[in-house]
Amino acid sequence: DSPAEKFEYQAEVSRLMDLIVHSLYSNKEVFLRELISNASDALDKLRFLSVTEPELLKEAVDLDVRIQTDKDNGIITITDTGIGMTRQELVDCLGTIAQSGTAKFLKALKDSKDAGTDNNLIGQFGVGFYSAFLVSDKVIVSTKSPKSDKQYVWEGEANTSSYTIREEMDPEKLIPRGTRLTLFLKHDDKGFAHPEKVQNLVKNYSQFVSFPIYTWQEKGYTKEVEVDDDPAEDKKDREEDVKTEKKKKTKKVVERYWDWELTNETKPIWLRNPKEVSTEEYNEFYKKTFNEYLEPLASSHFTTEGEVEFRSVLFVPALTPTGKDDILNRKTKNIRLYVKRVFISDDFDGELFPRYLSFVKGVVDSNDLPLNVSREILQESRIVRIMRKRLVRKAFDMILGISLSENRDDYDKFWENFGKNLKLGCIEDHQNHKRIAPLLRFFSSKSEQELISLDEYTEYMKPEQKDIYYIATDSLTSAKNTPFLERLLEMDFEVLFLIDPIDEVAIQNLKSYKEKNFVDISKEDLDLGDKNEEKEKEIKEEFGRTCDWIKNRLGDKVSSVQVSNRLITSPCILVSGKFGWSANMERLMKAQTL
Ligand code: ADP
Ligand code: MG
Repeated sequence: DSPAEKFEYQAEVSRLMDLIVHSLYSNKEVFLRELISNASDALDKLRFLSVTEPELLKEAVDLDVRIQTDKDNGIITITDTGIGMTRQELVDCLGTIAQSGTAKFLKALKDSKDAGTDNNLIGQFGVGFYSAFLVSDKVIVSTKSPKSDKQYVWEGEANTSSYTIREEMDPEKLIPRGTRLTLFLKHDDKGFAHPEKVQNLVKNYSQFVSFPIYTWQEKGYTKEVEVDDDPAEDKKDREEDVKTEKKKKTKKVVERYWDWELTNETKPIWLRNPKEVSTEEYNEFYKKTFNEYLEPLASSHFTTEGEVEFRSVLFVPALTPTGKDDILNRKTKNIRLYVKRVFISDDFDGELFPRYLSFVKGVVDSNDLPLNVSREILQESRIVRIMRKRLVRKAFDMILGISLSENRDDYDKFWENFGKNLKLGCIEDHQNHKRIAPLLRFFSSKSEQELISLDEYTEYMKPEQKDIYYIATDSLTSAKNTPFLERLLEMDFEVLFLIDPIDEVAIQNLKSYKEKNFVDISKEDLDLGDKNEEKEKEIKEEFGRTCDWIKNRLGDKVSSVQVSNRLITSPCILVSGKFGWSANMERLMKAQTL
């Protein structure tokens, strides 16, 4: 035997293992979901590589997962014919924390200062490979990468800070390619090694894995066997039987044997007819594919034909508080691209969705892209451009759907989580202004508690009102108390309160909504459509010298001093120049340069 080399876990892994081993988490069965999802990932990687290197498949053509149980000894083995791991990959993958889910878990754990909540977090984030230790005392991973001509064995035990790696020498244990995990279950968890238990868990947790999962099951068939007559019966009787040609006696017995049984449905959900898929199934698919805890706010399943053909299921997530920092993250792994059912990549940077929509999750399966599609191809492809356009449209339809839902809470939730993204869209995506604008929400002088849409605003506009008025400030309180409002309130014109720093730039990019311009009420020359030029002239003449005097006193601090009719009770007001920054913008710019 080749000697086993001993390795220490990275500190974070030790901590994680410690947590897992001592956790009181009751939903331990998630370990199977995690391990099957790793097997499925490994198969995806192999299938992807085999497109350009078909010889990778040669030793084992079938891409599948097989789970065998030994209930007497409490052992489960999970074997896949995927990409396997080299010796170095074993060290990198199973001794350190590389994966995002586990890193997220640890971060959430840190955030939730109360360590008592960790039990729930394990289920929310999934702790990947290490979840094997929720139920196992010992785990052995024997794996063969097509990149290596040797098979290696990783062995780790609960409650130790080290693991070993050695070469697989037992000829009986050699596999052509892939990975075999052997779990030695803890005394109290041996129940997981029952074939029916595993079968149920696979059905329950892994129904959306697109490779066949076989479980080792006991089967039976009935056959008829001849029954020997009672040996005590005497010979004469028998001879009589023969003479009378009486049929020999038979009885039915059940013959038992063991065999592999296909346990999951392998047709991907996006290839099914949308009419035949229930909301629950979409939600389950979403939760399992994206390792999500909450149900999505909306989903959309569609096929496009014609110029470019693809199928897709998209989702708008409902965020957990810990998910928030992902909002504007470009690389979210939120879209999984398949080409003819082969998983290609989930590593996109704006190719399929613009950055501001990167929160949308889903799968896209195209028949028109080459299987060996690279990032460069994606970026230049006309097909991808068309796909992107359609996907974006569908995403907006889906969001609009939430906004039209009877349940106002849903859109409130959406807006709270992703309102900023849409505002960013106003700035970055002029082509889709028409789609974004109806989705925006603001407080206003007539609705300080509840957000309103621009449609609600325009619907209640006074007939004599030409423009959509807004004031941008740093808070609802300062918006409510600004003297700029006086005249407008008197005229009963509604004013939008833009209190989010990004609001003002977003609105300036939109410029107008339904042919009504957005007008900042803090700018000079505010025209409320009630000009009385003669009267203005009179007043200007009367107060001209007062204005000059004030301008003289203030010097360069103001650019001009004017008489205006925009105030009711306040004696004077500072306004911004027509072409200059608003006071709000100036405040924001200052804050940025400080
Ligand atoms: P994740 O799957 O999110 O990356 P895991 O902790 O579940 O994190 O797995 C860690 C890594 O170990 C995987 O990224 C993969 O590289 C490797 N791995 C785990 N299981 C397998 C397997 N069955 N075949 C090949 N590699 C695997
Ligand atoms: Mg995993």
